[in-house]
Amino acid sequence: MILILLGPPGTGKGTQGKLLSERLQIPNISTGEILRSAIQNQTELGNKAKSFIDEGELVPDDVMIGLIEQRLQEKDCQPGFILDGFPRTVSQAKALETIFERAGLTLNHVISFELSAAKIIERLTSRRICRVCGKDYNLITNSPPKDNRCLNCGGEIVQRSDDTEATVRNRLGVYEQKTKPLKEYFNRKGQLKTVNAAGSVEEIQHRIAEILALN
Ligand code: AMP
Repeated sequence: MILILLGPPGTGKGTQGKLLSERLQIPNISTGEILRSAIQNQTELGNKAKSFIDEGELVPDDVMIGLIEQRLQEKDCQPGFILDGFPRTVSQAKALETIFERAGLTLNHVISFELSAAKIIERLTSRRICRVCGKDYNLITNSPPKDNRCLNCGGEIVQRSDDTEATVRNRLGVYEQKTKPLKEYFNRKGQLKTVNAAGSVEEIQHRIAEILALN
């Protein structure tokens, strides 16, 4: 199965992508996570991406397309994969189509996560993540432990540098302008499904399973 998770930041794509990955036994490829780990490891990619991420802007298309093209050639992608955060522009979507055509791959579904801007801002500014393993916490719905150490790995729990309110508002603007047109793009191809992203993790998981006929 090949899936694309589309939607503004803070709608739960990452959380649902990880759950789907376990259920379907295929990798969840989060371009945001790849970039954050590159920044942490101070690689060439990380150095290129850092200022864009900190401002809430998109990393240039050529960098992202090269990155995803390489990642999809890895062996674990053979049974299928989930893309979380890619494509984010129409040129990325067109490049992906070419990559799929060349590799003889067929996209099954694009799931678009729908949530109000007010809810997104609330979710993102209260989000915290483990600096080491990336596990998500939330000050309102899923508080980090008192010692601020990750339950998974003991790593420090921090706020993402792009989860401050000003950067979140910029990210939402960038989404409206550059990524939202992809809904129409995939809709015209008959590949778009929408999911109401309000509610608990389990509720959303259930809605997605229905869309994919996994229940
Ligand atoms: P995310 O974790 O998906 O919210 O991504 C965090 C940041 O990484 C975004 O705000 C962008 O700066 C960058 N990023 C992730 N995926 C892409 C992409 N497909 N194209 C451009 N920039 C990206």
